[in-house]
Amino acid sequence: MTLPNRSSRLSGFHHQSPPDRLAAVAAFAGLDAATVGHLADFGNLDPHLADRLIENVIGTMNVPVGIATNLKVDGRDVLVPMATEESSVVAAVCNAARQCYDAGGIVTSMSGPLMIAQVQLVQVRDPHSARVKILEKREEVKAACDACDPVLVSLGFRDLEVRVLDTLGGSMVITHLIVDTRDAMGANAVNSMAERLAPHFEAWTGGKVYLRILSNLADRRVARARAVWPVEAIGGQEVRDGMISAYQFAEADPYRAATHNKGIMNGVSAVVLATGNDTRAVEAGAHAYAARGGRYTSLSRWEVTADGDLAGVLELPMAVGLIGGATKLHPTARACLAILGVGTAEELARVTAAVGLAQNFSALKALATTGIQKGHMALHAQNIALMAGAVGEEVDAVARALVARGEVRVDIAAEELGRLRGRRGE
Ligand code: NAD
Repeated sequence: MTLPNRSSRLSGFHHQSPPDRLAAVAAFAGLDAATVGHLADFGNLDPHLADRLIENVIGTMNVPVGIATNLKVDGRDVLVPMATEESSVVAAVCNAARQCYDAGGIVTSMSGPLMIAQVQLVQVRDPHSARVKILEKREEVKAACDACDPVLVSLGFRDLEVRVLDTLGGSMVITHLIVDTRDAMGANAVNSMAERLAPHFEAWTGGKVYLRILSNLADRRVARARAVWPVEAIGGQEVRDGMISAYQFAEADPYRAATHNKGIMNGVSAVVLATGNDTRAVEAGAHAYAARGGRYTSLSRWEVTADGDLAGVLELPMAVGLIGGATKLHPTARACLAILGVGTAEELARVTAAVGLAQNFSALKALATTGIQKGHMALHAQNIALMAGAVGEEVDAVARALVARGEVRVDIAAEELGRLRGRRGE
């Protein structure tokens, strides 16, 4: 389809209502009536709320929410909602959790709910003196931080760190405000504190402040999960050793570690999204944490216990909240939090880490045994059948035929669909 060359300069677009914006976009892109009708259906998100959450709204993007079963976290059975478009992710968590359920499930802990805000000072003639001058002002810094957020006062400011950083632009004085943001992810709270303090830092040091923003490397907010999978529950010593070898590969090689950690984040991000939290913040924190030693490596650790069982440990920053952002506003996020039954951000972070560990277990097991494709194929085949135009009962029939042929491709799906319809005389 060739479209006329239209302008993307849509004056006043952000002032329009979602239906008017959609009409403008439809005209721009030449959308047919069916596509416009599809986009106009906001599903279970109120268009007015959607229009408040982000800018220039024209519709919503629905992602399935599935429930991970079999999880026991810190002795409590939990059902975990996961929002993801990727097949096999939810099933992987269910399988891993089932295999460690009788052995006690997953044990979690957390380092605490501390976020870091950074303030960048440049053009400081005597950066080392400036560093110490800022550290001397600890009580004033604390008072200014606490004045920013009355709700957080009893929590709020916790500590001050100042570093002199050598950069391409010379020495910079970087201050970290360490703040207990408790049940909030905390971005807005700590960013406000950093902004409020900037003029003081300039006055105290004679430097100039540029950036004032949180760090997503939330290494004071680390969630931990550990579990033991009995060797007989996972299929024996060879499976266990294959999984350990797969982990060792990831530990040693960033190319493998990226995919290993992506698998962990399949689980983590799905819970983060289902609860209305910021997936990008958690992902940035996880990957930066994986590289904190100067070399990107595995976020998890796997080893053999004294009894010969398989033990897994996962640690990663988990800046999630129950208050703020979309968590409180989005009705689906609220419903997912109700299913989880968590009362604090820490509980949510810990369950999320447990899901990440379970996800990693299943990926390692599949890779070390049958390969990842076998488990993927059944659902993937259904997606391919849908892509070929199968509807209703045709989807399962075509998917089964694709799996039986061992060729899960759209052209084969189209062929199978044609054959099926031919048999029905269509
Ligand atoms: P927020 O500012 O909307 O809400 C947090 C506030 O809620 C606190 O400051 C406090 O005043 C109040 N509060 C009430 N009860 C509380 C309790 N029990 N514990 C803690 N706070 C309580 O939300 P936020 O968490 O500061 O911001 C999260 C949003 O910021 C997310 O949408 C995120 O996407 C966005 N964001 C992220 C980044 C980043 O990650 N780099 C940067 C900017 C914004």
